[in-house]
Order: sequence, then C-alpha cells, then structure tokens
Amino acid sequence: MFEKIVGEIESIGLELMTLNESIYAEPELGEKEFKSCCAHIRFLQEHGFQVESEYLGIPTAFKATLNSHKPGPTIAYLAEYDALPEIGHGCGHNLLGTVSSGAGVVLGRVLSEVGGRVVVFGTPAEETNGFKVDMADHGTFDEIDIAMIAHPGACHRCSGGSLAMEALEFKFLGQSAHAAENPEDGINALDAVINMFNNVNALREHVRPEARFHGIIKEGGVAANIVPDLAVAHFYVRAGSKQYLQELVQKIKNCAEGASLAAGTQLQVQKYEKSYDNMVTNSMLSETYCRNLLSMGVKTIEDSSVNELGSIDTGNVSHKCPTIHPYFCITEKHMSKHTRAFAEATVTPFAYGEMKKTIGALVLTGLDTVMNPDLLKKIKAEFDVTEK
Ligand SMILES: [Zn+2]
Ligand SMILES: [Zn+2]
Repeated sequence: MFEKIVGEIESIGLELMTLNESIYAEPELGEKEFKSCCAHIRFLQEHGFQVESEYLGIPTAFKATLNSHKPGPTIAYLAEYDALPEIGHGCGHNLLGTVSSGAGVVLGRVLSEVGGRVVVFGTPAEETNGFKVDMADHGTFDEIDIAMIAHPGACHRCSGGSLAMEALEFKFLGQSAHAAENPEDGINALDAVINMFNNVNALREHVRPEARFHGIIKEGGVAANIVPDLAVAHFYVRAGSKQYLQELVQKIKNCAEGASLAAGTQLQVQKYEKSYDNMVTNSMLSETYCRNLLSMGVKTIEDSSVNELGSIDTGNVSHKCPTIHPYFCITEKHMSKHTRAFAEATVTPFAYGEMKKTIGALVLTGLDTVMNPDLLKKIKAEFDVTEK
C-alpha cells in the first residue's frame, strides 16, 4: 500500500503544482477567496468528489466528499486558501490547501479497497474571521472521525496547542463639557479607559503564565478642549483552556467595571470578532502522523511541547473530533511567516518535495485509522477523556 500511495502522489504532482501556483498568483483575502475556492472545487470534482459549494451559505466554503460505500470511518482534511493584505500568501495557505486537497484525492484512490469516506472541507478566512468556528458550531465535525490539517513552516513540527481567545470591545459613555470653563459638568470617558488599562496591568502579575491580554484605544476623544464623552478599547484575551479563558474574561470585565465606576461612565461590552477555542492535539493521532512522516523520509520532526501562543480556528474543530495541526517544512533556513519571502518559499522545488512527504503522512495516517479499528478506538478514547 505504501508504494501505491507514493505512486499516486507522484501521478498528481503536476496538478498539485498547478493548483498551488494558480492560487499563489492571485492571492485573495478572507471571505473573498472566490477563484481559489473554485480551483479546489474543480480539482476535487475532476477526481470524483461530490462537492457542496457555498457550504452553510458561505460563498467561499465547500464540502467535498468521496465515499467508498463500504463501512469505515470518515476522515477529514481541512483546506485554507485565504491570503494577507499586501504580502499575498505570506502564511502559505496556498500550499496548505493544496496539501489537504491532494491528501483527499490520494486517500480517495485507495479507500475503495479498504472502506470509509474522505471529506475535504474548504474553510475560508483563517486570518480574519475563521469559518471553522461556524462549522464547528453547526455540527459539521460531529460526523467526522478524525480531522487533519498541516501548515507550512520553517521545520517539520508535531501538532501542539494554541490559546483560546476572545475579542472584546469596551465602550465607555461619558458626558462632554468645556474642558477648561466647566470641567465639573463633564464625565471623562477617556479616564475610564486609562483606569481600565491600569487595572488590567495590575492583573498581569496574578494570572497563569500562558495567559495573554493586549489592548488598544480605538477612540479616546476628538479635541483636547472637550471632555471626551466616548472612549473605546479593544482587547484580545487569551488563555490555555476554554475554562480559564472564561475566568480571565470575567476578571478583565471587572477591571473595566471598576474603571467605569471610578470615572462615572456607562459601560457597554461586546465581542467584536469570533472567539477561538484552544487547540487540543490528539496525541495518539499525532504520534501516528509523526511515525508516518518519518517513513516518508523526513529526518527530524521538532517537538511541540510549548504552546504556539497564537490562536487558530482549528482549535474549535479539536473540541468536536480528534484533530491534529502539525507544521511542515518548506524552507531550508529559518524564516518568519507573514512575510513576502515566506510566500515565495511556497512555490520552490524544496517546498514541493516536502509537500509530497506531508501528503504521504496525512494519507497514511488516514489509512491507518481505517485499517486499524483498535487505533481509532484509542484515538477516540483519548478524545473522550480530554473533552470531559
Ligand atoms: Zn497566518
Ligand atoms: Zn496560517
């Protein structure tokens, strides 16, 4: 089976490069990835997938399924294809999506022999308003046995964690007045925001080390001689678990309420972006993937013992079914993501070599869970424990 899979990857190698480079050449921002989404759908349809376009009513989302019509689990690969402003595919989502669709096609070619189902999900807007959150809320992943996604990086790295995140807007409403003639008639909303930042900074000493909260002042008055009647702060609050995030969000809200009370303002709090859950890697699934990656000829895989300390929408998927989100190497030297240089690295012969090994590992891992029910049982048992 190993030889067959390697042969199948080689046989679609040119098509994968074409898909990757067409998306690279025309980078599209989140929720506007029309051409990129179409390119994936065309590729998957040509390889026999049934495609539901505009999945859940989102124009650039899709669900592509290939069913062996024999009993077996459902394996999902998650494709992203959104780009960044100015620097195009600086996060490498062109190659990320290509790897997921490629893995789907190759696994699909062997499923007829072993059973099961493979689904490739097109998941828009990872960089901004991650659609995986809506998919997870909708129940999309409740019918999935395992989900996998591999992100381009500067080395091969095991799937790790990420921080749960909430984006909060604090709006303080005061009373304007002449700042010199009758300041006693005013209620200074900017004071409330400044108080809030001081309260929040005092909180930093008394939170868990992985917690992160960082804010900006969006609005803080219009002229120095007018007491500001409106001030707005935006905060991202991040924590290692969903539970601790809720505790932390409450503490941050308390900081705002205390600040508001002291300044005499009215306070309104709302979320201004979607909340991301923390990523929980299924370690049994991750070990299987890493073993397969070594068998594909990768020499070293870096450990992922520390949290990434960012937030990803695959985190929400990981609370619905066993999930991994490893990184795969596309550069021979260290390089930071979200740069033009990283975008250029996604279309090099080196990247294509590692892309094929990564697809191989993703396919072999899917296949392992189809052919080894005991393994799948262990993966699911671990998921049940971590989700309790
Ligand atoms: Zn990114
Ligand atoms: Zn990314």
